[in-house]
Amino acid sequence: RNLNDLNHSNWDVIIIGGGIAGAGVLLDLTTRGLKALLIEKNDFASGTSSRSTKLIHGGLRYLKQADFKIVKESARERSVLHELASHLVKPEKMLLPIMKDSQLSRFEAWIGLSLYDFLARVKKDEAKKMLNKDEVLEIEPLINSDSVLGGGIYSEYRTDDARLVIEVIKTAQDLGGHALNYLSVDEFIFDDSEKIIGVKATDKLTDQKIEFRANHFVNATGAWGTSLRELAGEIIEDDFCYTKGSHLVIEKRRLPVKQSIYFQGQDSRMIFVVPRLDRVYIGTTDIFYDGDKLSPQIDQEEVQYLLKATNYLFPNNHIEKTDIISTWSGIRTLIREKGKSESEISRRDEVFQAESGLISVVGGKLTGYRKMSEKIGDIISNTPSQTLNTRFSCSFKDLRELNECQLVLKNELNQLWSDYLIFTYGKRSLEVLGHFKQTQNLVIAELNFCLKYDSIYKALDFYERRTSRLLFYPDTVRESLEDVLEVMGEHLEWNEKDIEDNRLEVEKELTRRSDFS
Ligand code: FAD
Repeated sequence: RNLNDLNHSNWDVIIIGGGIAGAGVLLDLTTRGLKALLIEKNDFASGTSSRSTKLIHGGLRYLKQADFKIVKESARERSVLHELASHLVKPEKMLLPIMKDSQLSRFEAWIGLSLYDFLARVKKDEAKKMLNKDEVLEIEPLINSDSVLGGGIYSEYRTDDARLVIEVIKTAQDLGGHALNYLSVDEFIFDDSEKIIGVKATDKLTDQKIEFRANHFVNATGAWGTSLRELAGEIIEDDFCYTKGSHLVIEKRRLPVKQSIYFQGQDSRMIFVVPRLDRVYIGTTDIFYDGDKLSPQIDQEEVQYLLKATNYLFPNNHIEKTDIISTWSGIRTLIREKGKSESEISRRDEVFQAESGLISVVGGKLTGYRKMSEKIGDIISNTPSQTLNTRFSCSFKDLRELNECQLVLKNELNQLWSDYLIFTYGKRSLEVLGHFKQTQNLVIAELNFCLKYDSIYKALDFYERRTSRLLFYPDTVRESLEDVLEVMGEHLEWNEKDIEDNRLEVEKELTRRSDFS
């Protein structure tokens, strides 16, 4: 990460923001042959893109809002993304139970799921199936048998959002794109006709001030988008609002569901229950929010709400606060629509181009990042995008390569950690395994890999966004913290204070995500 080696003028495009939107735009423009630089003020994916429900989904609930365009586009994108990164965008059967108290009737579910399959053009073996009460209970015996009336089962996809961001960035880098984290854009530089020609940025690791010049500028700063547009001199007339969505994680042995479930809580809001290896996460809430955007936190009310809904659906599992391993919350930027509640507002993305030349993207979904990026790419370049054919660099060539990798991993590790490595690193898990053979310590093996390839500068980058251990395996974070600090300290030449700051930051996050008293 030697900033002095980078050319500071002459960029075709500078993209501000390293969430999924910025990463997608970087890849899109790079495949068109443009010289693009992405600048992220904290770590890559440290905003909403590591705090979503981690689904690549068409968004069944948007049918209720008659948002057919968003459903059609995102439903079709699911299989595209699966083709590009099959280990990271994985098919997931989703059960939609119809409960006695729910406002959704079996007939409405049938119409919704049929329309969903039609818009998504799903393959025959992925098409929805309607189920009677006994069939639902056979598939998922844990569901409340007194209240379930029937249901449907349909296809969605599951991912790791932060890993998706880093892999999109790495794929772009392999093709000649550039991306820097911990570099904050503070100001724009204008020419005489008020067009933006550059940015002034601060390296947050060294406080060094740097300027970059380019022909085009993209604002992909998510919930911070308005601040950037104001910096560019725009008078913002659009009306934005923010909602917070929270999730909680429990061990799968406390709720051994067989597949994902999407159900209507008693207040008609929809909730996902998603198994991930030997964990299950439950979310999301969706409430208007005007608090801290950098580190939103679940509150008592949300915990109660999610637990109540879970215990309504699975009354015999008695999930309690003490079962919660960890939590996370994300901020959604929405374009306000008069008279609509939080969950009724559309999730579509909007692209704005200002007089200054700044192109801003607001809203949208993880699922639609490729199409949204294409929209921005088309504004900037006449050369067609190649992202439809650009498989992620960590992707397996075919099923045979995946099977071979699985065999090699299983010789050294158990099923759980083999699956974990493949989901997290794709075909590059073999490199992680190489490190493991030397150290016999999986966390340190991953750390060595991430230090070499994944632009980590803080212990939290590694634990929260490259591996998601902080969310799903916080016990392994506690166990490995001292070793990780030692290896990182040596590699990044940390002094005592750096080590202490990193220790405190990780400990604070561990507490923040498991303290609901
Ligand atoms: P962000 O990920 O927030 O990225 C913006 C980045 O800009 C940040 O990293 C920030 O640090 C950086 N930045 C800000 N200011 C500056 C600056 N001055 N200089 C440099 N960098 C800067 N979508 C789905 O498809 N599936 C889901 O399951 C799903 N679940 C969701 C659940 C919740 C609770 C929420 C809130 C959203 C969910 N979404 C989902 C939507 C999806 O997560 C978001 O649309 C997406 O992550 C937004 O990405 P982004 O890149 O626009 O913003």
